[in-house]
Amino acid sequence: MGQLKDKIALVTGASRGIGRAIAVELAREGAKVIVNYAGNEAAAAETARLIKEAGGPEPILLKFDVASQEQVDAAFDEVKTKHGGLHILVNNAGISKDGLLLRFKQDDWLQTLGTNLTGSFHCARAGAKLMTKQRWGRIINISSVVGESGNAGQVAYAAAKAGLLGLTKTLAQELASRSITVNAVTPGFIATDMTSALTDEQKAKIREQIPLGDVGKPEDVAHAVVFLATDRARYITGHVLAVNGGMYM
Ligand code: NAP
Repeated sequence: MGQLKDKIALVTGASRGIGRAIAVELAREGAKVIVNYAGNEAAAAETARLIKEAGGPEPILLKFDVASQEQVDAAFDEVKTKHGGLHILVNNAGISKDGLLLRFKQDDWLQTLGTNLTGSFHCARAGAKLMTKQRWGRIINISSVVGESGNAGQVAYAAAKAGLLGLTKTLAQELASRSITVNAVTPGFIATDMTSALTDEQKAKIREQIPLGDVGKPEDVAHAVVFLATDRARYITGHVLAVNGGMYM
C-alpha cells in the first residue's frame, strides 16, 4: 500500500474495462488519478466512485478524445496548470473494428489507428513534455497479444497494437536519460465490453488456446501496470509484459 503516494497518474479510457481497473489499482497505491473518457460520463463517474471506495485520493474526471491532437494538448495543459503535473501516463484508450482485409473500409482503418496508435502518440508527446522537466516518469502503453501474434480479421487493430510496441521501444530509448521509463503491456483475452460482443462459440475457441484455461480479468492487467509504475520497476524499460494466460509465448 502507498507505493504511489504523491504521484499523479493519467489513465486514458478509464471509464470502463481495463482502464477502470488500472485507475482503481493505481489509486489504491496512493496515486491521484485523472480519469479520461471519450463520452460515457456515467461510467467515468462510477470509476471515480470505485476509486473513493478503494480509499484513493479524490480523482479528477477529464473528457477528451485521444485521437484529437487539439483536445489532447488542451487537456495536458489543464493537467499542468490545474492539477499539478504528471508522473504516470497509461495509454489505454482503444477501440477495435474487425474485418478481413479485402472488405475492410478505409474509414475503419483510420479510426482504429487514430485511437489506438495516434492517440497514444499524442498523449505520450504531451505527457513526456511534463515528465522531462521533473526528470521522473512512467509511460505504460496497453497493446495486445494480437500486436505480437497477428490475428486474421483484425488487420487495423493488430497493426495499431504492433505499432504501439515500436513506439514503446523508441520512446524508451529517447526518454531514458530523463529517468522516464516506457513499457508496454500486452493483454490476452480479458472479459470487458470490448470482448463481450464475441459469440459463445468464438469465446470457447479462444479459451482452448489459453494454457491457464480461463479468460483474464481487468485486474490481472492492472496489477502488471501498477508494478511497472512503481519504483520496484525502476530498472525496466522498453519491455513488453504479456498478461495472457500463456496464450502466446
Ligand atoms: P472497453 O471496455 O471497450 O473500454 C474502452 C475505453 O476506452 C472506454 O473507457 C472508452 O471511453 C475509451 N475510449 C475509446 N475511444 C476513446 C477515445 N477516442 N478517447 C478517449 N477514450 C476513448 O475496452 P477494454 O477491453 O477495457 O480495453 C482497454 C484497452 O486494452 C484497449 O486499448 C484495448 O485495445 C486493450 N486490450 C483489450 C483486450 C481485451 O481482451 N479486452 C485485450 C488486449 C488489449 P467511453 O467509456 O467514454 O466510451
